[in-house]
Amino acid sequence: MFSKILIANRGEIALRVLRACKELGIKTVAVHSTADANAMHVRLADESVCIGPPAARDSYLNIPSLVAACEITGAEAVHPGYGFLSENARFAEIVEAHGIKFIGPSADHIRIMGDKIEAKRTAQRLGIPVVPGSEGGVANETDAFRIAAEIGYPVLIKASAGGGGRGMKVAKTEADLAEAFATARTESRAAFGDDSVYIEKYLQKPRHIEIQVLGDGKGNAIHLGERDCSLQRRHQKVWEEAPSPALTPAERDRIGGIVSKAIGDLGYAGAGTIEFLYEDGEFYFIEMNTRLQVEHPVTEAITGIDLVNEQIRVAAGAGLSVTQADVTFNGCAIECRINAEDPATFTPSPGKITYFHPPGGLGVRVDSGVYQGYVIPPFYDSLIGKLIVHGRDRSETLMRLRRCLDEFVVDGISTTIPLFKTLVGNDDIARGDYNIHWLEHFLATKPEMGG
Ligand code: ADP
Repeated sequence: MFSKILIANRGEIALRVLRACKELGIKTVAVHSTADANAMHVRLADESVCIGPPAARDSYLNIPSLVAACEITGAEAVHPGYGFLSENARFAEIVEAHGIKFIGPSADHIRIMGDKIEAKRTAQRLGIPVVPGSEGGVANETDAFRIAAEIGYPVLIKASAGGGGRGMKVAKTEADLAEAFATARTESRAAFGDDSVYIEKYLQKPRHIEIQVLGDGKGNAIHLGERDCSLQRRHQKVWEEAPSPALTPAERDRIGGIVSKAIGDLGYAGAGTIEFLYEDGEFYFIEMNTRLQVEHPVTEAITGIDLVNEQIRVAAGAGLSVTQADVTFNGCAIECRINAEDPATFTPSPGKITYFHPPGGLGVRVDSGVYQGYVIPPFYDSLIGKLIVHGRDRSETLMRLRRCLDEFVVDGISTTIPLFKTLVGNDDIARGDYNIHWLEHFLATKPEMGG
């Protein structure tokens, strides 16, 4: 096992990783920008290194500084968290070239899954169901028209290098295709410096259901069930839950079996998520995330398995601590992403937290890097914490969530807590009756909630 790990991240996820390290008896090194000198992850780590000025490109994305921090402190491994360098194949390669273990999959696997065309091709080869569409990239308008006619309208033009929902355009009918194709290419070139695009059938009212996997890098992999992340705003997840209100145990076993076999065959190491759209009983692969995800705690809640612990074990060569037969699913868990944002306009609300009182009690987990008196810097994303609530079934979890939201006090800044108070009392949400468009429609019809 490692004796010292450097955590190349900040905020709640740096704390999350630090906690797993402490429980394994591993020393921790925090890194921070000058804006984060007083951050909680710095206070709780055994050592810390300042790696640059506030802008992320000069600090948390600064590879030479991070490698130097490992060398200065003698860290043997790096955990990248999520975001920042977590899906940067080059970073994984550079770290390993310096004799430091990257806690995550191989650079090759990161690279394959980072290219959406390549990822889809690989998924298909491994027997994972994909959205009907073009075989690889679509080079010109003539091909676009031919392929769209084959799969049937509406279609979606997607950027191969895409991310965060950018570079995607819907063509409802043939009349929209030429423009959608041209715009997607232009946007993709501007955003990613790459104009390769591909075409998919546009699914009208799918759910976003993703499967958590763990691979040992030696051909064995298991799945930890699904998370339903259909409640999204601008393609950003807002509320996540496990299990999905829409899946039966048989469907879970079927897709879980397909995915874990595929990931084992790939020889994948560590934690990963296979994201699907789910409509009318069918799963359609959209992408794989080769890292820990923000919403991983809902899976931890219902399985009792510490995902970061497993990531570290695999990286250290100790293998997974569990087999598929050990994995059982207990109850229901829901996560709310608490952002420092105006709940109506969603504009960021950095500043000083004058009072902070998180909820507690049975089945309640709050992962947060903030504290009373903390000043949220304006340089990073607005997630200040995650409220994860677990109950024996979905109705108990919803009642508990309602109670927790009433207890949660964050003064001095605006947060998205009021949005969740509205959602938890909504009938569609109570029935689990929602798809990926539900939240946007809801917000549009509730002007006071951001329409
Ligand atoms: P990104 O990497 O930019 O987030 P994804 O491929 O993960 O792109 O897609 C982002 C979101 O776009 C999905 O969560 C879903 O809401 C929507 N989406 C993607 N592909 C399709 C599709 N074929 N049909 C309908 N919606 C889609």
